[in-house]
Amino acid sequence: MKRYSMFAVAREAARYHSGWGRAWRSPAPKTKYDVVIVGAGGHGLATAYYLGKNFGITNVAIIEKGWLGGGNTGRNTTIIRSNYLQDPSAALYEKARSLYEGLSQDLNYNVMFSPRGLMMLAQTEHELRGYQRTVHANRLQGIDTDMISPAEVKRLCPIMNIEGPRYPVLGALYQARGGTARHDAVAWGYARACSDMGMDIIQNCEVTAVRQSNGRVRGIETTLGRIDCDKLGVVVAGHSGVVAEMAGFRLPLESVALQALVSEPIKPCIDVVVMANTVHGYLSQSDKGELVIGGGTDGYINYAQRGSFQHIEETVRALVETFPMISRLKMLRQWAGIVDVTGDRSPILSKTPLEGCYFNCGWGTGGFKAIPGSGWGFAELMATGASPLTAAFGMDRFREGRFIDESVAAGVAH
Ligand SMILES: Cc1cc2nc3c(=O)[nH]c(=O)nc-3n(C[C@H](O)[C@H](O)[C@H](O)COP(=O)(O)OP(=O)(O)OC[C@H]3O[C@@H](n4cnc5c(N)ncnc54)[C@H](O)[C@@H]3O)c2cc1C
Repeated sequence: MKRYSMFAVAREAARYHSGWGRAWRSPAPKTKYDVVIVGAGGHGLATAYYLGKNFGITNVAIIEKGWLGGGNTGRNTTIIRSNYLQDPSAALYEKARSLYEGLSQDLNYNVMFSPRGLMMLAQTEHELRGYQRTVHANRLQGIDTDMISPAEVKRLCPIMNIEGPRYPVLGALYQARGGTARHDAVAWGYARACSDMGMDIIQNCEVTAVRQSNGRVRGIETTLGRIDCDKLGVVVAGHSGVVAEMAGFRLPLESVALQALVSEPIKPCIDVVVMANTVHGYLSQSDKGELVIGGGTDGYINYAQRGSFQHIEETVRALVETFPMISRLKMLRQWAGIVDVTGDRSPILSKTPLEGCYFNCGWGTGGFKAIPGSGWGFAELMATGASPLTAAFGMDRFREGRFIDESVAAGVAH
């Protein structure tokens, strides 16, 4: 693979960009792999990457029914933070955030990580107390967060109205090293690195059955034929329940559509990420100038990757008191992704009743930020049978009552 560098860009500029190769190969599937990963979203690709990088396992195929990064990974609002309440979540999300810091260098691909700072507004006394508790928990976990005053909020984000009559800003939980990254670039960077290690990324290939005998996974049936494997990692987000059914068990998940929208591009006006959980909306500004705005999930189970007018109205109405300027903006696009939500709002990274078959799912509305850490831990789980990062996130926790309750930290979609 040709390395991307300043010199490569200069050389290609001089010859009208005629020398760039394809970033990843598109091979035909082989009949057998050591490991098959289903789902070429960020989590699937990161898993494959760390299997190769950390464990030298490169006879790997990543099977994708659409195009890589076309699921939730390419549809999210790109917020990255690690200010979770419970210890296992904080460890996992902080591992991911710290990997994001060096990801562009690691992958030799600019993922445009932008640690611009992130604030979660406290707009009720109850929320203020909740966030103070999270700051204390984060200090014990070694995660750098602060409680900041309304005046500091206004200083960091001058376009905000902190004196709203219904929901005044009483303070904020602030993570200075939180921010955003370019979601497509994260998928593309991992894909390029996986392909370079000799792994096969097979797009437009849907898994239709999981083959098994004597309680052990043997391979998969796909729209491009049968593929055998020793280990199977299923990383299909909102379709996890569907593939689990093929493997012969059920998962404690619900799949719902989560929507987001962007405004027309405007001049730079906000250089932090702001989440307003009480009114339920959040926003940041993309490099193109669009305000990226997210709201909540649909109130019913569905698989429609579509936006709806009701959500635009609901989300913008929620934010307009705190950000009066958005009432004068035209909204440009909206869309949805199918997110897989667990009862405790924490993910599942787990062995399953089918030996050799592992599931990574349940990231719900907030898994983009976790991609590098999830891939790191899930690769370790698949390669060695255990990982300290994933130990608490087994699917047996729902049977044993060991919930990792993040309904406050993950209560708003981000
Ligand atoms: C609108 C929206 C906003 C969000 N905002 C944020 C945010 O700001 N911050 C954050 O951290 N998270 C956010 N999220 C959540 C985040 O996007 C997801 O948690 C994350 O992208 C999940 O990644 P994944 O790789 O698990 O899934 P995906 O990217 O969805 O990848 C799964 C892949 O599996 C494929 N697949 C499914 N079934 C099959 C099959 N049978 N055979 C083969 N392939 C199959 C799909 O086509 C898909 O490409 C948001 C999500 C949405 C929808």
